[in-house]
Amino acid sequence: MDHIEDHEGFVDNRDFVMGSSNLYEKEDHEDEEPFLPPQTPESMLTIGMEWPNIFECRSFMRNFAITQRFTFRQKKNDSKRIRYVCKERPSCPWWVFITRLNDGHTMTLKNGNFIHECSGKNGTLNRNANAIWVAKEIENLIRDASTTKPMQISNIVYRRFGVRVSYYIAWNARNMVMEKKVGSYDKGYALCPELCIQIQKSNPSSIATCSREDALDEFTKGCRPILGLDGCFLKGKYGGQCLSIISLDANNGLFPIAVFLCRSKCQATWIKFLILVQGQLTLHPSKLTFISDRQKGLVEAVLQVFPHSNHRFCFRHMYKNFKQLYRGTYLVTLAWNVSKAYKKFVMKFFLDKLGVAEPDAKTWLEREPYESWYRSYFDASTKCEHVTNNFPESFNNWIFKIRDKPLNKMVERLNLMQMTLIKARERGGTKAYRLDTEFRTPSTRGRVRGRGRAEEPSQLPQSSTPISTQPSQQSQQSQPSQPFQPSHSTGQHFRTPRQDPNA
Ligand SMILES: [Zn+2]
Repeated sequence: MDHIEDHEGFVDNRDFVMGSSNLYEKEDHEDEEPFLPPQTPESMLTIGMEWPNIFECRSFMRNFAITQRFTFRQKKNDSKRIRYVCKERPSCPWWVFITRLNDGHTMTLKNGNFIHECSGKNGTLNRNANAIWVAKEIENLIRDASTTKPMQISNIVYRRFGVRVSYYIAWNARNMVMEKKVGSYDKGYALCPELCIQIQKSNPSSIATCSREDALDEFTKGCRPILGLDGCFLKGKYGGQCLSIISLDANNGLFPIAVFLCRSKCQATWIKFLILVQGQLTLHPSKLTFISDRQKGLVEAVLQVFPHSNHRFCFRHMYKNFKQLYRGTYLVTLAWNVSKAYKKFVMKFFLDKLGVAEPDAKTWLEREPYESWYRSYFDASTKCEHVTNNFPESFNNWIFKIRDKPLNKMVERLNLMQMTLIKARERGGTKAYRLDTEFRTPSTRGRVRGRGRAEEPSQLPQSSTPISTQPSQQSQQSQPSQPFQPSHSTGQHFRTPRQDPNA
């Protein structure tokens, strides 16, 4: 510093900058030989040495490993005993065994082999140097955590202890130091709603509001505008119902939008629920299509809250009623084919066949609005061909195991399940897009190229007899064993003829 104070010695400004910048030059110099603290007697291990409690003991051992430049693995680490071995084991015989004394807190080194046969690596990453350790060590070293960058922390740790810590560990350590000073960042978010309430209470004319709108971004950006509505019973002591709105993403994966826990399923509760999510759902750029099993009050509720949306009904429920009136596999299969035909003339073809076999059955089917029941009349903007309400029912089965939990635990568990689901999908998606297209199924390839299923190559029916098989109730119920990817259809096969088979 002497030469800086003596400014007479500088020839021009550049010399001054060179002279003063060396104040920080050493700190930024990464390849410098790390400074290690002198070896104190405490840094040597001896049998019988003691620590006042397990936390002191763990902290000592971690420091010991880092300053001695080796990494240990924890073979046993509970409240009573600790057994560490060298990471290079079995080639390195180093190990220690520490146990708790009868007083219940003092830890003592019982046994061990303190000779390493591995070569400690200088300046490399040491897994023992985790964020908690870094935070503890740098807390007194850095003057102001808010202005210290993670890379600077990494350099400080390297100079002081000779270990490199990753940017991520340094970033985490910096946050820990900051949180000690300014409080928890997570809590800051959690307390925001309460803060708004308190502000409005203490000063009623204030404007204070908080909302989280990003949660449904994935619906508006990544899902088709199809929304399955369904409800299921809660199985806890006090019963109740869980109403849910479920959408499908581009890969036909379930996308839970919202659940509503209430006493009973009726028009009033559906209206209340739909009004709550109305603002978010209408952000979707396309016209919304609801699909439900025409529960009591639900149709009216949807009509009231979303008057301009489409509403489809689950054909399986219609089929149940149909089956009671008109018996026989042939009739029922024809009815399913009417519903599942992709093109209007094919639908008409099967409807006429049904009319020949049983005129009353044709009339019975025809009195329902076509655009709510028959695929060929669906609004194509939805890009979704489902004629059944299977996917919301898959959701009900997915949450089957948590439906008997107390309310708070159920919501917490559901939240966790959803996060796991979305994260797994995100990981799978990244992997799938890396894979060559030959590994994809034809339908996935079609979707990736932006083609609908209806445009896939089709074949003529082999005979005039419908080729579909009847779905059983069992197959519906067994489906939730894989709730994440509900099947396209109820297990029936239908091929769209390119020309009228009568011709
Ligand atoms: Zn070793």
